[in-house]
Amino acid sequence: MTAHQLILKQRAELLAVLCGGGNAEPLDCVLDLLLACEVLVWEDYLSIRVAEKPLCSNVRHLLDVVYDKGEDACSLFLAAMNQVVPEEQKAGLCFGKECAVVEKNRPDTATLTLLADRPVLVRKLRDNIDGALNALLTTGCFTIKDCDAVQLPVYTPSQQVRRLLDQVRFKGETAAKTLLQYLEQTETTRPNPEDKENHLSANCLLYQKKLRSSVAAQSHSLSTYGGTGRFSLDDIYTDGLLEVIDGSGETLTLGLEDVVGPLGTLNEEADTVLVSGEAGSGKSTLLQRLHLLWAREALLTNTFLLFPFSCRKLNAEQRELSLKELLFLHCCWPDRGQDEVFQFILDHPNLALFTFDGLDEFKQGFTDEERHCCPTKQVPIPVLLFNLLQGTLMKGVMKVATSRPQAVGPSLKRYLRKEVLLKGFSPGGIDCFVKKHHSDPAMARRVIESLQANTVLLSLCHIPVFCWIVTKCHQELLGGQDVITQTITDVYLLVLQHFFQRKSPQSQGVLGKAWLEEHLDTVLKLGQLALEGLEASCYVFSGYELQRNGLTEKEVSLGFLIYCNDLSVTDCKRYEFLHITLQCFFAALYVVLNRNIDRSAVSRLFHPQYRQLSGLSQRCLGHCIDSSVEELESHVAETPNLQITAQFVSGLLSQRHHDLLLECCPIAVRERKVKQVVKSLSKGMQRHFKSIPRPVEGEKKSMHAMPSFVWLIKCIYEMQDNSIAQDTMAKLDVEHLKLTYCNIGPVECTALAYVLKYLRNPVGLQLDNNSVGDVGAEQLLPCLHICHSLYLRNNNISDEGIRKLLEKGMKCENFQKIALFNNNLTDACTQHFALLLKSKQNFLSLRLGNNNITSQGAEQLAEGLSYNQSLQFLGLWGNKIGDRGAEALAAALKNSTTLIWLSLVDNGVGSAGACALAKLISQGKTLEQLWLNKNCINREGVECLIEALKMNSSVQEVWLRGNNLSPEEEEELSKQESRLIF
Ligand code: ADP
Repeated sequence: MTAHQLILKQRAELLAVLCGGGNAEPLDCVLDLLLACEVLVWEDYLSIRVAEKPLCSNVRHLLDVVYDKGEDACSLFLAAMNQVVPEEQKAGLCFGKECAVVEKNRPDTATLTLLADRPVLVRKLRDNIDGALNALLTTGCFTIKDCDAVQLPVYTPSQQVRRLLDQVRFKGETAAKTLLQYLEQTETTRPNPEDKENHLSANCLLYQKKLRSSVAAQSHSLSTYGGTGRFSLDDIYTDGLLEVIDGSGETLTLGLEDVVGPLGTLNEEADTVLVSGEAGSGKSTLLQRLHLLWAREALLTNTFLLFPFSCRKLNAEQRELSLKELLFLHCCWPDRGQDEVFQFILDHPNLALFTFDGLDEFKQGFTDEERHCCPTKQVPIPVLLFNLLQGTLMKGVMKVATSRPQAVGPSLKRYLRKEVLLKGFSPGGIDCFVKKHHSDPAMARRVIESLQANTVLLSLCHIPVFCWIVTKCHQELLGGQDVITQTITDVYLLVLQHFFQRKSPQSQGVLGKAWLEEHLDTVLKLGQLALEGLEASCYVFSGYELQRNGLTEKEVSLGFLIYCNDLSVTDCKRYEFLHITLQCFFAALYVVLNRNIDRSAVSRLFHPQYRQLSGLSQRCLGHCIDSSVEELESHVAETPNLQITAQFVSGLLSQRHHDLLLECCPIAVRERKVKQVVKSLSKGMQRHFKSIPRPVEGEKKSMHAMPSFVWLIKCIYEMQDNSIAQDTMAKLDVEHLKLTYCNIGPVECTALAYVLKYLRNPVGLQLDNNSVGDVGAEQLLPCLHICHSLYLRNNNISDEGIRKLLEKGMKCENFQKIALFNNNLTDACTQHFALLLKSKQNFLSLRLGNNNITSQGAEQLAEGLSYNQSLQFLGLWGNKIGDRGAEALAAALKNSTTLIWLSLVDNGVGSAGACALAKLISQGKTLEQLWLNKNCINREGVECLIEALKMNSSVQEVWLRGNNLSPEEEEELSKQESRLIF
């Protein structure tokens, strides 16, 4: 399709993208690019960007103008769109073929230079508008009125720069020259951050000192160890796995220092870095570590002032505040020179860092509807927070926010510089954490051994908060439980038991069988507080609220609630649950154990969209409920918590805990609740199954699972009832189940396998781009018999994980395909594949691209291949098998009667390898495609291939792009053999 046609066909979509959210920035960026490449002339620009007209009418006019200018203009417009539109909004849009940018001579006037460099200038000048205006003012090119018109506070910094550039153009060549000169000077005299302290006043330094010491005090110890005084953060902090997906879709691993650094940046214009991870994956702890290291000047040394905020605490702020008040009241009050310190922050945004922990707990969902850029004006907290995140307010200040992934919608995503994924502990991290927790090495060893003996529990420990509980409750664990710990409900029951035991009078003894019944009253009081809090997005409670719920001091001191660690100036004590997941657990206990809870409580948890606040929570937690917050928005924050609660409810109602609950809740009530859960789960699943589209002809019937599908699977797993899993899966009829980018870690793998093993017919299970890892791969074994294909691209799997997977796979008749592109595989795994190939004569496809397999590994594979008569697809793209490897594979495959497709792209294969592969061509009857791009084959190798092709009619294409051949040779050789593709 031509670019012309593409614009016409996608007009509505293009319009929606450029007008989305009423933000003119995307349109302005496209206009900058089109002016720079001369698709638009100045008159076009003036006619398109009319401030008085609505944004959509501007965009429509642009589409008309570009369309009228013909095919080249259209393709440059699409290229500009491709550059400007954020990735997540590109789905469904087609930008046509890449168009070559025609090199032009540098413009010969300053005015034209400003136009040609406009996109870069907008970026460069954004943090420097004052300086530029000053230069124009002092040279007489601008008047004060001109400057004021540029700097109207309604404009964002980028818009101010564009106004400045427009005004300069209007003023003529001298003004343009002045601006260029100014830019040249600033390039050469850019301030060195090292020099900053030379210009700092005593007041600023004093403030920095005070801020550093209060941040250090606040971040010194972990709240989960609060009160025990046993551990400082230094003693226990263990690095988590941090990843970022860069612009080309590749996953990069980050260190703590890279969170704020440039690695993985997707949007240079934005200043907000998001750290996302599931509840308990360690987001708050990571921020705390950053804070502590900054306070000690051990990290973020270019950050002069760091302001930490907690969104759950901001929820309680009822006042309208200015930015200044927010910083000083919520973080640290300057003892001297407030105005001076604040002015310093305004003047040096690049030296400040703001962190916002728990964006998902902020009661209002992100919106960018209300613009606010004045640092001294008082506005409601959500307006302040959202404008800071967007960069409308305090552009240039780096922000780091944390959130659970579900709570971040597309409207926020477009303001993100990058999204860092926190994936919890690696297997090595778990060991390290346990060793740090137990000073006695023998005890640490016992705990690690017990985890290795219970791999389900080990998989749970990838989530640090579970790891913390498991380690903390080691005595209960090692002491031997009636029920083997398998689910997160089991883990939280352990911690419940542990805390009661700690405070029980016979603290050395073991709690009696009826321990839950004994503490039922306390559990219900805490549960009520927890549930009402969750329903109102309230996670911080005053002493008064605890009292109102009847909680005594003794009950508070049990340890489930802790004091808020807070920098802000308040006069009353506030409390929060030890961790949000514990609040969810208590809420679940309340739903299950309260005999009088309203009948819809269970189903409300499973269908939060139909939920309304219960009268109770409205009455008790009135301060948390902001009447201006629309119902719909508040769901954003609550849904993930209610989902965790629902998971715990499922677990508590499991038959496994029947005895524990027996005396706490009448059987009939319990049975009713079980039925409600089962019905909700079944309905939820049905909804997913109904959304499965009819298969396109010739394609497999496939289901692309949504994140809530995984949640429902986890609820079913918590119930530990085979018949429920079986009944649910009996209704799923697909050939391919796609769960890519769904945050599937080891915990999810356990649940998936538990449920999917009951599928009636074999499926292809696609788990690409998750964090399955070796432990997750092992958890998948129970469902391997029902997988005809397993796709595990980009999942951090190493040889050990593969060994276990293949050991089982070999015995599974259905198992025929595996894709492992981009994992951590080495030659140590190829012997297992060889064994698989030898023993499974119905195996069809093996894809091992982008791993670390060398010639040795290829030789081992070849050993297996020589016995195999079923493999059709073999992919080794991006390994290092070299000539030796290629020769071994060719020798093993030359008698194959099944191989159709072979890829050895980018493997250091030279002409010797190519000549060996030529024999495969001349003798093979089935091979259709041979991929040899990006190797080092020269003319001699290609001539061998040509000779072989003369004797072969099955091969359709041999790809040879990026080898050691000159363009002339390529042309000549492709004339000799049309199946060669260069
Ligand atoms: P999140 O903010 O993602 O919900 P937290 O940071 O609150 O998770 O972690 C919950 C608990 O898990 C912490 O209180 C701590 O006990 C443990 N934890 C989390 N991350 C780490 C870490 N990196 N090192 C040691 N313990 C950790």
